[in-house]
Amino acid sequence: KHEIVFIGRSNVGKSTLMRRLIGIKVRVGRRPGVTQRPNYYKFGDLLVTDMPGYGYMKGVDYKKQERIRDLIVKYFEDNAPRILCAVQVVDAKSFSEVVDRWTARGEVPIDVELFSFLKDLGIPVIVAVNKIDNIYERERDMVLDDIVLRLGFNPPWTNWLDRIAPISAKKGEVEHLRKLLKDRLRAIKRPDL
Ligand code: GDP
Repeated sequence: KHEIVFIGRSNVGKSTLMRRLIGIKVRVGRRPGVTQRPNYYKFGDLLVTDMPGYGYMKGVDYKKQERIRDLIVKYFEDNAPRILCAVQVVDAKSFSEVVDRWTARGEVPIDVELFSFLKDLGIPVIVAVNKIDNIYERERDMVLDDIVLRLGFNPPWTNWLDRIAPISAKKGEVEHLRKLLKDRLRAIKRPDL
């Protein structure tokens, strides 16, 4: 049994993306913070998991945000051996700004923390940079360079096409991400190739 886990800050468009990618009906527009458990979907013999959104949510107190973060960390620790990869969904427009705000306060931004935590666990992470449609085309390279830099990679972002995929879940522009996931699946199904 193999599993792909989707994580992301609340409101990044994770549900929209999962619906686009795998056609499953992910509950969208539910009250933030209500889903405190992973949601599972079966896709062939693949298990696809939707983790609760983390970070700030209107009407959800800080304690609860911490609990969600801890739940996510524990989930990966407990299930690491069967997890093929994680898809971390981030918001193209706000990612760098949020990271910088936390860093300036001397804190580790939760997205960066989870990203390096997964790396330490040996779980491959694909970063899906969503809502790319909100960025003018001429600014996209700059925005994507800023994002990879904050995740610890050297720009240009195009050097990291094996783990970063600018997407628009809303517009259905998810082809590169789809390809990266297919590559992952192919690798396990034909381990000798
Ligand atoms: P979740 O909380 O991460 O599951 O986010 P949702 O899938 O519920 O989406 C949150 C909001 O972002 C909704 O209003 C979506 O329509 C919007 N959204 C999702 N994907 C995109 C995208 O690619 N571009 C834009 N502009 N908006 C998006």
